[in-house]
Amino acid sequence: MMSVSSRNSDRLPSLSRDEPVLLSAILESAMDAIVVVDGAQQIVRFNTAAERMFGYRRDAVLDQSLDLLLPERYRSVHQHHLAAFIATGSTARAMGHLRPLAARRSDGAEFPIEATISQVEIDGRPYAMAIVRDISARYEADLALHRQLRLLNLAYDAIFTRSPDGRITFWNRGAEALYGYSAAEAVGRLSSELLKAGPEDQVQECDRALEISGTWEGELLHAQRDGTVIAVESRLVAVNEPNDRYVLEVHRDVTARKQAEREHLEVIDREARAHASTIAMTEQRDRLQEILDRLPAGVVIAEGPDTRIEFTNAAFVELVSGSGMPPQGHDFVLTRADGMPLGSNGHPLRRALAGERLHNVQLALKRADGITIPISVHAAPIRAGNAGKPRAIGIFQDTTQLQQAEQLKDDFLALVSHELRTPLTAIHGGARLLATQKTTLAPEDREEILGDVVSESERLDQLLSNLTTLALLLGGRLEPMTEPVLISSIVRTTIASIANRHRAHTFVVDLPSGLPPMEADPALTEQLLRNLYENAAKYSPDGGNISTRVDVSGETVTISITDEGIGIAPEHLSQIFERFRRVGETSRIRGMGLGLYLSRLLAEAQAGELTASSAGAGQGSTFSITLPILAE
Ligand code: ADP
Repeated sequence: MMSVSSRNSDRLPSLSRDEPVLLSAILESAMDAIVVVDGAQQIVRFNTAAERMFGYRRDAVLDQSLDLLLPERYRSVHQHHLAAFIATGSTARAMGHLRPLAARRSDGAEFPIEATISQVEIDGRPYAMAIVRDISARYEADLALHRQLRLLNLAYDAIFTRSPDGRITFWNRGAEALYGYSAAEAVGRLSSELLKAGPEDQVQECDRALEISGTWEGELLHAQRDGTVIAVESRLVAVNEPNDRYVLEVHRDVTARKQAEREHLEVIDREARAHASTIAMTEQRDRLQEILDRLPAGVVIAEGPDTRIEFTNAAFVELVSGSGMPPQGHDFVLTRADGMPLGSNGHPLRRALAGERLHNVQLALKRADGITIPISVHAAPIRAGNAGKPRAIGIFQDTTQLQQAEQLKDDFLALVSHELRTPLTAIHGGARLLATQKTTLAPEDREEILGDVVSESERLDQLLSNLTTLALLLGGRLEPMTEPVLISSIVRTTIASIANRHRAHTFVVDLPSGLPPMEADPALTEQLLRNLYENAAKYSPDGGNISTRVDVSGETVTISITDEGIGIAPEHLSQIFERFRRVGETSRIRGMGLGLYLSRLLAEAQAGELTASSAGAGQGSTFSITLPILAE
């Protein structure tokens, strides 16, 4: 039992002479605050450290109730405990060792303390001595630690620490949730075994990095309690404090994210492939469309059962609309070739949709603008379209030109037979007269009839040779045999062969001397010249001069034949070389409109050309053939 000295000697029993001094010195030098209270809980001792801690001067607290040093809310509880302690010398709890107590400073501020209380009895009177330690700093540190722990537990990430030998020392809720082990189960286990899933060298690589740089970040594979392997994004930090070495590991489950990323990549990949195939299909379709658009025939694809037009090419649009504008629905009508209605099931596309194949069906197409076009139609069923609907393709061919050609052929035949018949009739009539009236005919009449027979047969001959040459030329079967041709000689020969039939005309030939030979086919050139001389005579019904002139220029020679006849109006000049084309006042002059057409072809076949000029109607005409001069 220790004795306690007091400044207040009347309240404490007197001690030996040195004791009070010694005791005071001990109390004052103590680092901890020391407060002594009597049985009435009045402060009887208050050392310097207590003055510093509580902020009171000793005089202000002595004889005051201990309550002064306690926060108000603890006073009654505290008094109760202290009273019991003083009375019995024991307490249910060793104060200050169970939980921090709070004390109150002179400025009213509270602070946490740790107090060790002991009982002292002096002269039969109980006293209590409290050694008080301000634990604010430690308390704060503890609080901070708890806050951190709470935060660590609140985090969704799995967080755990492991000691240098790899044993788990802390395991947060996130780790419990992620791996399926409770903290109690995990703490103490080797993390490398508990979570083992990835390859061995993965763990070694982490440990090496931790040793070198103190941290490691990356992705790992971990096993959950049930064996499921998950991908985690991890951050490892090696903490190396003087008294505390551990590794802090933070892991986040990225399995779902990885899966989502994989799926996202797959979607992108699928989309890219779909896109590529769409592009390929579009290109293919565009190519097909381009090919079909270049076809001269109208192509249409229709889908059943309502014959909905699904595709048309450019030629079809052109055919049914008369322009490049797409048709507005079915704004054209198909009829029979003779214009009669087709009947309910006569439409070629409808027939093809029903499975029929149509070949070269002659119909008429009546456009919205009222124009009717003769057409030939092919149609056939094709591969079914969307939703298995039947489809059919139709090919519509405008036969206007074909029909015109047919017509032309008919007209031509009629014309030819007429043109052939005229001289033949004359020849036949003349021959008959000569035969039947041999004796009665006067010699000059006989001469005349004979002359007619000769000239008509020559006409007939020229007509037939023109037709034959034209047929050969158009059939590509005429091979001009070029050779050196003397211009003056061929001009004179030709004139000589026809002059006797054209006595009303004067053939004037004006050729320069020393003309070079041409490179030409003599027979074809003669036929050409004869056509031009015959025309010159024919279209100068009043006679006159037919002059021939030759000009040499560079590597060509031009033979010009000029007459003084009916001439050609300027607007007709370009038309006279077309076949069957006859212009001006020609109704009383015999002809088929083939001579100039053939003559131009003949000039071109020999690498030459044929042109016409005229000062106008009644002004005469000039026809010029240009042919190459024979090369040295
Ligand atoms: P055809 O003489 O049988 O009618 P061509 O082809 O020889 O046929 O001539 C075509 C047309 O050119 C003639 O119908 C005529 O109108 C015109 N023509 C040809 N030669 C002359 C010419 N020398 N003078 C005036 N017109 C001509």
